Amino acid sequence: MASSLIDPLRSLGRAVVDYALPPRCAGCGEVIEEAGAFCPPCWNRMEWLGSEGCERCGLPLLATEADTCGRCLADPPHLHRIRAAVAYDELPRAIALNLKYGRKVGLARTMARYMAPLKGAWDDEALLIPVPLHRWRIWSRGFNQSTLVARELGRIWRMPTPNNALRRIKRTKPLKGMSHSQRRKAVAGAFQVGDGSELAGKTVILIDDVLTSGSTAEACAKVLRKAGAVRVELICWARVVRPSQLMR
Ligand SMILES: [Zn+2]
Ligand SMILES: [Zn+2]
Repeated sequence: MASSLIDPLRSLGRAVVDYALPPRCAGCGEVIEEAGAFCPPCWNRMEWLGSEGCERCGLPLLATEADTCGRCLADPPHLHRIRAAVAYDELPRAIALNLKYGRKVGLARTMARYMAPLKGAWDDEALLIPVPLHRWRIWSRGFNQSTLVARELGRIWRMPTPNNALRRIKRTKPLKGMSHSQRRKAVAGAFQVGDGSELAGKTVILIDDVLTSGSTAEACAKVLRKAGAVRVELICWARVVRPSQLMR
């Protein structure tokens, strides 16, 4: 059984060793010049999404002059803007899993580095909030991967990452294989704003590692907006882009 706590001395030792060794590509381990980056072949293997696409949901818009996709126009989501660094694929998936289950916490910095250019036009008052895990899951894993990424982005963007501004109060089953309405039902009531969260009039930037259907982030956004947040965006590392989503 894996211990839920990382031995502080061991991880300190590792950090010192990492510092002394030449930086390596987060994808393949090749020696590279800059820490927390990818080598050119790994970089080329990934589909970088950038800031293009639907103004709101960020999905690629094909053969249209519109700024917003048909689905967002017909049924505007609670999230005002969604951006992801890469399309979810073999390598981005491996990076996310290694952070989450492999305890390669340095990958949070790599992910943040490539998410940082997706910053929106936010005011100084905006808050960075990671999509929370249920406390039992934090207890068994030892950390919330999205919190680590949010902290790195907070450092880069010089933005506050308040603790416990949003909580997950319900454990949810994995949403994989569920229909859209089943997912929505599964995450309904799963989130709650924390005590004393000052969200009125604020812009909130949710941070997550992987975006699949968006049901979880939508549930967060709904709660945050109810608590007075005027704008909620989501910035994540990777997102699943299904071919069917490109047919508009
Ligand atoms: Zn590489
Ligand atoms: Zn859209």
